[in-house]
Amino acid sequence: MKHIHKYIVCSYSGFLNPSVKRTKITERCRCGSEINRNATIIEVAEMKKENREGNDLFVLFDKVCDKIYHKGKFKYTGYELICIFDKLQKKYPKILSCHIDDENYMNSAIFFVPCMNKKEYFTTTVFIVPQSGEPLRIVMSPSDVEGMIPILKKLDGKFGKKLR
Ligand SMILES: [Zn+2]
Repeated sequence: MKHIHKYIVCSYSGFLNPSVKRTKITERCRCGSEINRNATIIEVAEMKKENREGNDLFVLFDKVCDKIYHKGKFKYTGYELICIFDKLQKKYPKILSCHIDDENYMNSAIFFVPCMNKKEYFTTTVFIVPQSGEPLRIVMSPSDVEGMIPILKKLDGKFGKKLR
């Protein structure tokens, strides 16, 4: 689906290393598109402050990816991946999860990894992990979540009453 990219700073390199002359900034859109550029003096100052506060938007997401990906591919699938996520969730309570069945009615799970800092909630990366089959990663923007809530409410335990 086409959309207008909304880039937000996701990582920077070099600003803590005195021998590096230019600090580089990587900006990422929620669709995964990235751009790289040199940071301005003001941005470097802000980055140093943000770094102190340790509130980078993608810190949690990057930690999760370090555990579950290798060269852009899932290292684990199925029950093994669910167990990895369970451990990550104990360590990082901001990761949320719910139960779901896969197409073979086997116990499966959905894990929600928010990208946020103290100032901003950006997106949630969602990992759908079937027990049989390949895991899937999708991204939900705040407006996606808002659009989904009324649908999920219609599909709740009172399903029959609301849809008939
Ligand atoms: Zn985009």
